[in-house]
Amino acid sequence: MPAVGLGTYQISGSAVEEAVFLALEAGYRRIDTAKLYQNEREIGDAIRASDVPRKDIFITTKLWPTDFINAEWALEESLDKLQTDYVDLYLIHWPFVGKGRAWKALENSHADGRIRALGVSNYSIKHINELLKNAKVKPAVNQIECSPFFYRKDLIDHCMANDIVVEAYSPLTRGQKINDPVVVEIARKYDKSPAQIMIRWALEHSMTTVPKAASKAHIEENIAVFDFSIDPADMASLDTLNKNYRAGA
Ligand code: NAP
Repeated sequence: MPAVGLGTYQISGSAVEEAVFLALEAGYRRIDTAKLYQNEREIGDAIRASDVPRKDIFITTKLWPTDFINAEWALEESLDKLQTDYVDLYLIHWPFVGKGRAWKALENSHADGRIRALGVSNYSIKHINELLKNAKVKPAVNQIECSPFFYRKDLIDHCMANDIVVEAYSPLTRGQKINDPVVVEIARKYDKSPAQIMIRWALEHSMTTVPKAASKAHIEENIAVFDFSIDPADMASLDTLNKNYRAGA
């Protein structure tokens, strides 16, 4: 799974097609979507129109809780819109009553190859433990909100101890904390942008991440994070920014 993917929440129509096109051109090989985002069709169009083979692109989509009774049908609908036979990663978007039943249905789709990897999103330690007790297929990923400003170390450690990859969403705090003085100062020191520092921070903590960007400049900037690392002292400064700040709250 590529460490940095393109997030696509709140971007639709021709704008998302353009963003996916630009991202593939810039070297992204991973796109994060969800039924909720109502942009799977346009993402499928952009991928089909691109020169990059489908097999080289890692696509994630998600099951919305209202579809839990018919999870396999919801998956079929997403595959149809994305114009593909399989999804690389399928996530239960939020924990909900009945999630155990949905997981069992999705294990069948995993067995027949329509889901390459199965995961969850917004799961707490309690939710993870409950799932691990009954799952035949262990969750490969937990996608959770994470940034230096919302850093749930216990949850992250628990996932990692159970071989669950942690994927940071809203890594840029939706732009809300991007001008924080500590981030800006560290960005200056490394001659990088604040967004690059926040993305790199997630990578240094062994997470993957899916920053959302619509403009060419942001798309290109956010993937240019593999030519530097943040030293331990600066990582410690960034870690102190944690104030349980949720960008979407
Ligand atoms: P985000 O990635 O933290 O922030 C996106 C915002 O940052 C946009 O306004 C974007 O502007 C701006 N931005 C992007 N690159 C920038 C840069 N280099 N410099 C300055 N500003 C920049 O927010 P998010 O969309 O909430 O999270 C990312 C992705 O995570 C989502 O798109 C979605 O795929 C996923 N997600 C998952 C869940 C879940 O429940 N599983 C929840 C939320 C999000 P422009 O668009 O104008 O470039």
